[in-house]
Amino acid sequence: MGSVPMSWRLAKHRYSMVGTSCKCGQVHFPPRLVCECGNDDLQPFAFSGRGEIVSYTTIHVGPSGFERNTPYNVALVKLDEGPVISGVVVDKKIEIGQKVKSIFRKLHEDGHGGLINYGFKFELV
Ligand SMILES: [Zn+2]
Repeated sequence: MGSVPMSWRLAKHRYSMVGTSCKCGQVHFPPRLVCECGNDDLQPFAFSGRGEIVSYTTIHVGPSGFERNTPYNVALVKLDEGPVISGVVVDKKIEIGQKVKSIFRKLHEDGHGGLINYGFKFELV
């Protein structure tokens, strides 16, 4: 992951779900540098973090660092604002169509206290 020019603008939102919005009306998550319409003057846009489970997978063998948490559910969540993202759902029993909201917990941090890996957790509303 290279440095993203927008990152300084988003730094204060590091624990929020911030994407980008375009004057054409589209919103994006994760944030984009250029909209599908070609505009590259995008603004930070804070998502509500609320959405609905559209599909999910139960992970029984996690990647390094997650072993103690298995099994866990990774869901595709359609955010109220439109974009679909994947994230861990902390609840063990989930179903398609249930409403979730994001919870901002750090998943991993690098050794320098800076970079937080992409990854969101959700819980049932
Ligand atoms: Zn646009």
